Amino acid sequence: MKIAIDVDDTVVDFVKPFLIYYNRGFNTNYSFEDINSSEIWKCLGLDKDSFRDLLVDFRKTSFFEDRVLYSDFKNVFEDLNKKHISCFVTSRSKEVSRETESFFKRNLNNFNTPIFYSGGIHPTENGSKAEICLEKKVDFLVDDNEIYGLDCAEKGIGVFLLDKPWNQGDGLPDNVERVEDWYEILEKLK
Ligand SMILES: [Mg+2]
Repeated sequence: MKIAIDVDDTVVDFVKPFLIYYNRGFNTNYSFEDINSSEIWKCLGLDKDSFRDLLVDFRKTSFFEDRVLYSDFKNVFEDLNKKHISCFVTSRSKEVSRETESFFKRNLNNFNTPIFYSGGIHPTENGSKAEICLEKKVDFLVDDNEIYGLDCAEKGIGVFLLDKPWNQGDGLPDNVERVEDWYEILEKLK
């Protein structure tokens, strides 16, 4: 079984540090639980363009820089990497590809997994996550975003959806499995 892995809120926190950045900057008080849609900008009363602009700014701050890899992912990485990991697939801007790569190299030994940058938030010449997963012939996408997950599921790709406040919609199709953490994913792949 080959898996493609999302980055933000799948192997490293995004929403938590972004909310700290946002609440400080705009004197608001949003909590993790307030983010109840994968379209985060809507939860903050923003349009997508303003959110995208904020991301560019956020990514220059220490909130972005100081994050560390989830410990459960770090613990299972070697095991998964032997048989299962095909690539990372993220809707981060390609402009942060250098930072993204160096983040993984800092956090994982002998890191040489390909990272693909999909469309979704930032304009890119690359396809959607589902298109990339199809092209790379992966069996599963691991993601926290149910919009990307449902798109993959529709195209016949299995999905492990990491349980988050923003992906609580019900009626998930059979090939989307809600999971708590990376230990559960490793068990299911065995
Ligand atoms: Mg994500």
